[in-house]
Amino acid sequence: MPVKQLKERCWVLGVDDDRDFDPHFGSEDKARSYARDSEPAALPTIKALDEPCWIAVCDGPGGGPFGVCDEEFEDDEGGGHGPSEAVTVEWITAYQWKIAADGRAFGSCCTDSCPAGAVAAAPVVAQIPGQLTLDGQKVAG
Ligand SMILES: [Zn+2]
Ligand SMILES: [Zn+2]
Repeated sequence: MPVKQLKERCWVLGVDDDRDFDPHFGSEDKARSYARDSEPAALPTIKALDEPCWIAVCDGPGGGPFGVCDEEFEDDEGGGHGPSEAVTVEWITAYQWKIAADGRAFGSCCTDSCPAGAVAAAPVVAQIPGQLTLDGQKVAG
């Protein structure tokens, strides 16, 4: 699965939820050592997120041990963790990532490898009635 949920919840600094760059850490220790060095004011507010994040990994061909690119999605601010599958898919496609009909994701690094004519706009995701879908259609009922 190109867009997948992490197994563990990330730790964040918790100082300001609206900041452009909100680093995520794989453990409380890592968050604390970062805060000690860079943002001591955040030490008292460090917290784990309620849910594990979603990330996107490129399925293009690559030179790694498994023959795939494995590039992890990052936006301009260096963030790449979404709160849900739908949000993450919308986010990465805004950054020119493509999702093939078979569900593989191709990053901007590997867009050329995405099978032509087999591109899905986005996987089918559960919609809340009344919300716009990703292709702008209103959901019935
Ligand atoms: Zn995260
Ligand atoms: Zn790639």
